[in-house]
Amino acid sequence: MGGRDATMVLLDENGIRCDGRKVDEPRRIMIKAGGLKNADGSAYIEFGDNKILVGVFGPRDVHPKHMSNTDTGILRVRYHMEPFSVGERKNPAPSRREIEISKVIKEALEPAVMLDKFPRTAVDVFIEVLQADGGTRCAALSAASVALADAGIPMRDMVAAIAAGKVADTIVLDVNNEEDQAGQADMPIGYMPNLEKITLLQLDGVLTPEEYKKCVQVGVDGCKIVYDIQKKALQDKYFGNGGD
Ligand code: UDP
Repeated sequence: MGGRDATMVLLDENGIRCDGRKVDEPRRIMIKAGGLKNADGSAYIEFGDNKILVGVFGPRDVHPKHMSNTDTGILRVRYHMEPFSVGERKNPAPSRREIEISKVIKEALEPAVMLDKFPRTAVDVFIEVLQADGGTRCAALSAASVALADAGIPMRDMVAAIAAGKVADTIVLDVNNEEDQAGQADMPIGYMPNLEKITLLQLDGVLTPEEYKKCVQVGVDGCKIVYDIQKKALQDKYFGNGGD
């Protein structure tokens, strides 16, 4: 962390944030379903300045075979940041952070994916972060859901994700990189909008119980905004003229 401009005003007297947004306003979100010819399903997301590509492969045979499960399919997720995705070049070797985020995203997707329909197989989700600007795990999770749907993997619901947080003593939606570095609180949330269930909840920071409840509500409301954009991405590909 670090590197924040100490003179930056995080929230001005009119309730406007450092990047011009209102407290309940997400960054610009664009999702495109499909795009990778060699993948079974794919999606590309721009979430503010985050740019992330996801490819889904499977259900397919598991090698080595003993890693498979005779009762159910398995989900494998790899979250990877390109060395050029951040200001200070990232070492291309998998970091502990990438291993942790891969696990977090896998566990957030599992409740939505009907893996029991594909015993002995694996569904692989490859996440490539091309440009990072705070909130990549949520953006990647939202794009991975669209890519799984694009691959035709049966799902109980989509998982939509966004972070809520606390900035200048105020609960806000979609914490950006500068706000995250100011460090009051950042709470990534993954949510299944139809089943009304949270599948990811992390908290970095300190909140009162009241602020915590408000943060969850703001995050869940934000996930519903993301969900509409996920649905539109799939509709554009399958029912509109955005297909390929
Ligand atoms: N980041 C970075 N270098 C790294 C890892 C992260 O510059 O090696 C930046 C990147 O912009 C990322 C942000 O720090 O989005 C916040 O990272 P965090 O671990 O909180 O995860 P995220 O918010 O991306 O889910």
